[in-house]
Amino acid sequence: MPRCPNCSYMLVLLERRRKYKCAKCGNLYPQKDIELKDFKKWNLRQRISDKENIKKESKPKGKRPVLTEEERIERAKAYMKKYYTENKEKFRERGLEYRKKNRAKERERERIWRENNQERYNARKREYYRRNKERLNKKSVERRRMNFDKYSCSHKLGKLKKKQKQLAVRMIDKFLKV
Ligand SMILES: [Zn+2]
Repeated sequence: MPRCPNCSYMLVLLERRRKYKCAKCGNLYPQKDIELKDFKKWNLRQRISDKENIKKESKPKGKRPVLTEEERIERAKAYMKKYYTENKEKFRERGLEYRKKNRAKERERERIWRENNQERYNARKREYYRRNKERLNKKSVERRRMNFDKYSCSHKLGKLKKKQKQLAVRMIDKFLKV
């Protein structure tokens, strides 16, 4: 039932006169105007409620099937695995880079610590040497022996011979070209 625009009291339709009359304030309104107003109001209300209904309806539609905690973890693992296999090279490179960077960082940290704790560092070094004397001596003897082999006369001679051979081959090549 439409209401009076003036006092909000319920209007009564005077069918013959095509007018609405307010029983309280006595105002008269053309039927068309009141009904149009009423229709507009109804329309607005309808649209709002429709919108709300659509929202309510679309909610369950948008919902994904509920997974258990275990299933979610499995799915995440599968995704990760797929991503890893597809980007293996990238991962490898990144890992190497990370290690390289961190090694440099670690060394830098140690260097700074040594600078600030020279005495403690020396004491530690001495202690370390005292405890591992035998092993370190053995190692140093071994190293010296290996260096001797590496730079021994026979080794140097071998290198020289190789170089001479290469030179000879090159000269022959040149000679044959001309
Ligand atoms: Zn009224």
